[in-house]
Amino acid sequence: MASLLFRGLQIRPLCIYPSSLLTKNVGVLCCTSNALHTQSVKTQDKPKSQSKVVTRNLDKTLDTRLKDYEAIIGIETHVQLSTITKAFCGCAYSYGSEPNTDICPVCMGLPGALPVLNSKIVECAVKLGLALNCKVSLSSKFDRKQYFYPDLPKGYQISQFDIPIASSGFVELDLPLEFGGGHRKFGITRVHMEEDAGKLMHTEGGSHSQVDLNRAGVPLLEIVSEPDMRSGIEAAEYGAELQRMVRYLGVSNGNMQEGSLRCDVNISIRPRGQVEFGTKVEIKNLNSFSAINRAIDYEITRQVELHSQGLSDQIVQETRLWEDGAQKTVTMRKKEGLSDYRYFPEPDLPEVILTKEYIKSMRDSLPELPELKRRRYEQMGLSMQDVLFLANDVNIAEFFDETLSKGADTKLAANWIMGDIAAYMKNEKVSIIDIKLTPIELAELIDSIKNGTISGKIGKEILFELIAKGGTVKGLIKDKNLVQITDSAEIEKMIDKVLAENPKQVEQYRGGKTKLQGFFAGQVMKESKGKANPGVLNKILLDKLNAKS
Ligand SMILES: [Zn+2]
Repeated sequence: MASLLFRGLQIRPLCIYPSSLLTKNVGVLCCTSNALHTQSVKTQDKPKSQSKVVTRNLDKTLDTRLKDYEAIIGIETHVQLSTITKAFCGCAYSYGSEPNTDICPVCMGLPGALPVLNSKIVECAVKLGLALNCKVSLSSKFDRKQYFYPDLPKGYQISQFDIPIASSGFVELDLPLEFGGGHRKFGITRVHMEEDAGKLMHTEGGSHSQVDLNRAGVPLLEIVSEPDMRSGIEAAEYGAELQRMVRYLGVSNGNMQEGSLRCDVNISIRPRGQVEFGTKVEIKNLNSFSAINRAIDYEITRQVELHSQGLSDQIVQETRLWEDGAQKTVTMRKKEGLSDYRYFPEPDLPEVILTKEYIKSMRDSLPELPELKRRRYEQMGLSMQDVLFLANDVNIAEFFDETLSKGADTKLAANWIMGDIAAYMKNEKVSIIDIKLTPIELAELIDSIKNGTISGKIGKEILFELIAKGGTVKGLIKDKNLVQITDSAEIEKMIDKVLAENPKQVEQYRGGKTKLQGFFAGQVMKESKGKANPGVLNKILLDKLNAKS
């Protein structure tokens, strides 16, 4: 036993710094979303000044130098599953609850407590595996990954080692148009099930740290990509596509700020044409997709610069942190080679055996996934910009689909959602599920404008009322007497009134200032309280204005 422990301490790289365990500094190693603190920044003073010089020298020739190199990027993503209970016990977990309130002997790792697998995790893993076009293993198992860390009470993490539940898949996506657009396909190496560790909480003075085990035992899926990405934006979009996928599937909220979706990026560069990979650097602390994009592009530039200056030996295998404030990566810890986690099959859990029927039933239960939805929207004649806007958010996509199912015109529905509705959501910082407008009423509104019951202007006014207060289009039209005026005699009366009230402008118009037509039309529209049919209005108005000239 003693020798085993000793061996563990010798091998595990984190234990090279036993004196700093439980200090703030080490805490940052595992809490990727934590804010950085001065100590780790201080140690980086030197590289900071170096990289500044480097970037300045780079500016002119950067593009040409970058073209000589190719970046190889792979991503490991952890997705926290939104199951009601944890992976191997009956504890519920909710983000932000009081420390150590969602715990039991199993997730605290007390001696003698035995894990029981939550079958919901298998369901989530199979669904995500299938969504990622993976082969699902009919028989997989759990393994113990041993390492020592204060937030890991058992001294090991239950994970999957040599036989993951899903492997050899791919994901397809469309890059945003502002980044040049284009369709991409990236390989997925594997998807496996595991449990999360607890969290360390550091006191302000840094004198001691506390452990919160609420997160211990929360189910995770780890998704390992092939090293197929070549730029920051490709990596960021890969991460965003995984987020869309877990949200479409409903297996996770995919919220990066809460740590429900975490990406660790591996990146190396090599001269174009070279087959061997360069030295791999890992970047952590990436808590947004734009951070992924910027961190990778920064790191590519840093490595290319070192390489092209003949300093490629300074690119070492290490973990670097992304500092969002300074917009750069800094050394967190140098790697001493691969860690030996001494995996062995978890003896307290049986193998996970799946039947073909089960996998089929999971496949049949899959919703329409982002890639299929995008292709369908594209075939409906929508532009790629519209397609990406509507399909990127599962709630917006559902709202749009439902509006169409109520008979609304595709392009008009897209325009309303992407225009006034999106603007409202942005201003009020709400999501489409928070607004009171329903798809059926949006379809009704579009129809009412199309068939001439109300004008487009009135439509807009009604829209904002529907969004904020709810109600029905028919009800609002009736209550507010908003039906469009198409009766030409009635409109003519209003035009006569406006022309009589503005003799000077009439004179100017007839003197050649024909732009004033818009002024008159606006006045008549005002007179009609926005209800005059614009077509009828403009026709009569023009006839009248031009009649006596
Ligand atoms: Zn528990």
